[in-house]
Amino acid sequence: MTTFSQELFSQEYARQLDAQDPISHLRDEFHIPKQANGEDEIYFCGNSLGLQPKRTQEYLNYELSQWQKLGVKGHFSGDFPWMPYHEFLTEESAKLVGAKKSEVVCMNSLTANLHFMMVSFYRPTAKRHKILIEDHAFPSDHYAVESQLRYHGHDPKESMLLATPRDGEPTLRTEDILKLIAEQGDEIALIMLPGVQYYTGQVLDMQAITKAGHAKGCKVGFDLAHAAGNIPMQLHDWNVDFAAWCSYKYLNSGPGSVAGCFVHEKHHNAEDFLNNELPRFAGWWGHDKESRFRMENNFMPIESVESWQLSNPPILSLAAIRASLDTVKQAGGIQVLRTKGIKLAAYLRQLLEQELSQDITILTPKETAASGCQLSLVVDLHGLDSKTVFDRIEAAGVTCDFRYPNVIRVAPVPLYNSFEDCYKFVTILKSSLEA
Ligand SMILES: *Cc1c(COP(=O)(O)O)cnc(C)c1O
Repeated sequence: MTTFSQELFSQEYARQLDAQDPISHLRDEFHIPKQANGEDEIYFCGNSLGLQPKRTQEYLNYELSQWQKLGVKGHFSGDFPWMPYHEFLTEESAKLVGAKKSEVVCMNSLTANLHFMMVSFYRPTAKRHKILIEDHAFPSDHYAVESQLRYHGHDPKESMLLATPRDGEPTLRTEDILKLIAEQGDEIALIMLPGVQYYTGQVLDMQAITKAGHAKGCKVGFDLAHAAGNIPMQLHDWNVDFAAWCSYKYLNSGPGSVAGCFVHEKHHNAEDFLNNELPRFAGWWGHDKESRFRMENNFMPIESVESWQLSNPPILSLAAIRASLDTVKQAGGIQVLRTKGIKLAAYLRQLLEQELSQDITILTPKETAASGCQLSLVVDLHGLDSKTVFDRIEAAGVTCDFRYPNVIRVAPVPLYNSFEDCYKFVTILKSSLEA
């Protein structure tokens, strides 16, 4: 746990921390929304929609002008031809999640990828038919799992297994998840949990969960919506079967931008597809690149995660991802971001504890390994609820979000937030609690 001196609650001190921050200059690489008075917003919503890198417009304009000048020939011409465009994103995406290059691809949207992954990795039998998710899963994940169960003729009441925090505790305990797997693993076909829980900001122990699941013969996949670009991971070494994430939260690629997907290399064997060991829904973009345009209607999967691709991808969206990944690269990579992210969150937490511990509860675990950028706050003050306070801070220049039933989520992100943002946020929160 990083600790700061006693006098941390001053603008001067926050500015000192910013002056010592080796990547503070990256804020200038982003468009920061302005308040009505012309000042920068306190933008703590990068866990929901990351801000736009300034270079994004340039990257998009380049593709628009290629299309203007070249028409269909843009598929093969220019610095970034569209035909292999997704390959320009592979190396940096792989670093973000700790994967080999053959294991990651940008395609589709997050929920679509979860479905396509379940087509391959949820293979229920009469005895092994359950999917383990968490009690408070993000609605889209819950619906995806529920509908997959129904699609296979299973009753979600019997086949959807929910990991639940203990009474009175906001977050899951790893030991409880592992116990559930040990006890019911023989009936679990698939474990699908978040890398970082969206409501509480808790980081789950993906390595331990994967190991426990595999020991019981389960497939293990993760939703990394709140993990990608937030915390470093080692999906390959952890032996995770699959993962999917969106690119518009910590990865700043714009609303609804194309998602990421990981499939471990042990599942890339074309034979497994051809003999139906590992079925998948196929499209022409998953077919062998050499013979794709021979149009022979004889599907040969690319021996990489790319064989799960269906369509030729939206290049404008991929261009925005390329801009975002270049910004991460400019920062020095995910480890550098994590180092600052830990410090920002620790500073914010210490300010809240010092100034507002009577009025605010932080749901997010305190241990560094169990938390990322986000802190989830509940207002405990008599007669005031989180929603009222949320409305007040929003009116005072803070952009963060409120999640039912009663949490204010704030995420200072390392690419563009400052220690001064944290200071200003706590100042505004304090006065809105007094009002
Ligand atoms: C943001 C988020 C989603 C959003 O799904 P889309 O398919 O991108 O709309 C899904 N699941 C989780 C856990 C999320 O945090």
